[in-house]
Amino acid sequence: MAFSRRDFLSTAVMGAVSLRLEGEDRKKPGPDKAEAASAGKRPIIISAANGFDYLNDAFAFLKDGGDTLDAALKVVQGPEDDPNDDSVGLGGLPNEEGVVELDSCCMHGPTRRAGSVGGVRNIKNVSLAAKAVMEHTGHVMLVGEGAERFAVAQGFPRENLLTEHSRKIWLLWKETHSDWWGPGLSSPEWHRRLPAAPHADDFERRIERLKQVAAEIGIEPEQRMLAIRKVLFPPTGTIHCSALNEKGDISGSTTTSGLAWKLPGRVGDSPIIGAGCYTDQDVGSAGATGSGEENIKVAGAHTIVENMRHGMSPFDAGMDALKRIVRNYNGDMDRLRYMDMTYYALRKDGVYAGVSLWDGYEPGKPHKIAVHDGTKRLEKTVSLFAGVSQEWPPTPQ
Ligand code: ASP
Repeated sequence: MAFSRRDFLSTAVMGAVSLRLEGEDRKKPGPDKAEAASAGKRPIIISAANGFDYLNDAFAFLKDGGDTLDAALKVVQGPEDDPNDDSVGLGGLPNEEGVVELDSCCMHGPTRRAGSVGGVRNIKNVSLAAKAVMEHTGHVMLVGEGAERFAVAQGFPRENLLTEHSRKIWLLWKETHSDWWGPGLSSPEWHRRLPAAPHADDFERRIERLKQVAAEIGIEPEQRMLAIRKVLFPPTGTIHCSALNEKGDISGSTTTSGLAWKLPGRVGDSPIIGAGCYTDQDVGSAGATGSGEENIKVAGAHTIVENMRHGMSPFDAGMDALKRIVRNYNGDMDRLRYMDMTYYALRKDGVYAGVSLWDGYEPGKPHKIAVHDGTKRLEKTVSLFAGVSQEWPPTPQ
């Protein structure tokens, strides 16, 4: 891939475009298309876009009378097992010490139970480990070493989750970058993370240096710019899936390797029941991918299910949760452009919605929701703000 400063700066430019729309909500285009298409259809499975390839098997399983949680787990296990998906399970990008730490939770509607694991090392299928916590303990959540030992006792193999691909990108980050210490976006001191004297030439020199180090580390030439992008803008990535059967049973699961280069022990929203996933058999199910710290503060998935319980459509329920994130920053677009969030909401009658804070992470690559209700498809989510989010930490303007 050829390097161009525009590759990196285009996002910043789009961020500036978005600023012109400061405070302006994206208008809801009549009845939401996704809602209209899905009204009343059961069974149905919705998931983050990276679940798309795994929907067929899960849907067939659900149609044959399979359990709704097991159907959702069939979907999320796909990316967990895939070494090329570096946001979930095997091959996930590691923490700042080069160790992969995984988070997951699930809720089983029919039995109104929940399970969760956080900060787990060496266990690939943490979504199944979360289910094991639900089924084989009197607890709901296990973390760290205890969760790992529990999983091994349950028969899960211990394995090295750090692939060569992810190890080399981590090494590039480690050799060239600082860490997550210091004020975050929600601190009054957040400006300290902005570059002191942003200058595009410095940025170009930085990229050249990164290219040299990437070559020394042995990252293949065609992989270098992708790796540099992940170093400069630590990516997140997760999968959520909710499944509803014909008789109205409903369950959900969320699993992730979380934020790349995170502080060891950092746990995001994904294993938090009520943030990364929430399911209520009487109402519906919801899940989240995106800026975990922001989602925890609005208990996103629970907020959405409660909103639906009180009569909101899945679309309005998701938009309301997004607006709570905006409210936490008093609508300050200088900060809101550095975060993103996608919510997946499924109501008990089969109506669903996918909503996002921004259109996507990059121009031309919108956030999507994967759906199977007899027809498998990817649909764009509806965003609260027009434009793309800007990656954090910021680059020179
Ligand atoms: N929400 C996840 C986390 O913060 C990351 C993501 O969804 O991209 O760990």
